[in-house]
Amino acid sequence: MSQKQLTILWLYPRDMNIYGDTGNVLVLRRRAEQHGYTVNVVEYNPGDTFPDTTDIVIGGGGQDSGQDKIQQDLQAIGPKLIDMAEAGVPMLVICGLYQLFGKFFKTQDGHVIPGIGLLDVETLAGPERLIGNIITHSDEFGDIIGYENHSGQTYLGADTTPLGHVVRGAGNNGNDNTEGAHYKNVIGSYLHGSLLPKNPTIADRIIEQAANNKFGEFTHGSIDDHIAELARKHAAKRPR
Ligand code: GLN
Repeated sequence: MSQKQLTILWLYPRDMNIYGDTGNVLVLRRRAEQHGYTVNVVEYNPGDTFPDTTDIVIGGGGQDSGQDKIQQDLQAIGPKLIDMAEAGVPMLVICGLYQLFGKFFKTQDGHVIPGIGLLDVETLAGPERLIGNIITHSDEFGDIIGYENHSGQTYLGADTTPLGHVVRGAGNNGNDNTEGAHYKNVIGSYLHGSLLPKNPTIADRIIEQAANNKFGEFTHGSIDDHIAELARKHAAKRPR
């Protein structure tokens, strides 16, 4: 067994984990193993002890009620997450946690759930939910394929880089053609589906960044991706 271990901190699996977001953790674990690492997944729920060592942070989407449940705890660990992000720890947060890694989410009934401001983005619930299959494009990752379902409309601060531009679907807000946000090694995105099984390039980038941070090197293992390729092709053909 490899002596090289990567620890994935999985934020709030109990309350923030919908539309298959667990798949992101499974893919990171499996691919990291195929690249030659052993993997330790630490599940973190409100009130748990924050681990000393974390190489990758991952979190999913949730209902507004789930966001309410975790918000206080998230505020408490926010400064640690910000320090880690500034130090280059790779992170992937989807939908509800993407919103709360930003400044705030104002819900349909008008209450404001504060975020940690790690990403310079703001989210206001819109009049209709933005639902359906989505394709975006990024220079770094190529086509990114997934599924979105959110009431929140997210607007990026002036200097914030989107993860991709919408080819088909709504994205951050349905208006400005952007999807997600990318800051240092932190990726926020609305794409469930889950994201990583159909977008292994993103998974490998996260693992590469974590390995480089920890061991100063990364060697790409040999992985047969023909099933992921088929899934991408099939998903890209599905109606909105
Ligand atoms: N509750 C948030 C919204 O509707 C997040 C939804 C989600 O994570 N899928 O915008």
